[in-house]
Amino acid sequence: MSALPELQFNVAQLLKEATGATRSYEVNAKIKDELDNEVIVVSPLIGQVVFLHTGPNVLVTGQLQTTIQKSCGRCLADFTSAVSIELEEIFYPVINVVTGIPLETPEEADSANLIDEHNILDLSEVVRQELLVTSDGILYCRPDCKGLCPHCGQDRNVTSCDCEDNTIDPRWAGLQTLQIAED
Ligand SMILES: [Zn+2]
Ligand SMILES: [Zn+2]
Repeated sequence: MSALPELQFNVAQLLKEATGATRSYEVNAKIKDELDNEVIVVSPLIGQVVFLHTGPNVLVTGQLQTTIQKSCGRCLADFTSAVSIELEEIFYPVINVVTGIPLETPEEADSANLIDEHNILDLSEVVRQELLVTSDGILYCRPDCKGLCPHCGQDRNVTSCDCEDNTIDPRWAGLQTLQIAED
């Protein structure tokens, strides 16, 4: 996913204001690219973000919603799911907004969390990462998806086949005999 203009904010003015100054923005961004090979975003990303000037840095908090499409891990069908992400990220300016002198950024600061020399704070990459993490946790088209039959390959959500009841995995066949003997 490339950088989205709708997720880029000029924070020069905010950085010139006193610690504690805030800005609040409505987000409505169209993510056109896929997040990765498996996840596509199919509705605009909407929500609100708040920027807080914390001294040298900017703390971004917010909640954003969108809809993703991926394929089910059980039945392989494409499905869509609403996702919601929470942001709580510190962004570090690389220059002093007044003097233009380069600032040292902490070593642990991710490159996605830098405010560039034009005072642009870009949420694209942190949003992409959050969406991917959230999407990774959404595995199935629905919690009770029955998946494909391992024997005949039919989608068991759509049709029931005769395989399930009649076929006993050979690995368990011995166990079954044992159980009968115990009874
Ligand atoms: Zn499924
Ligand atoms: Zn079957």
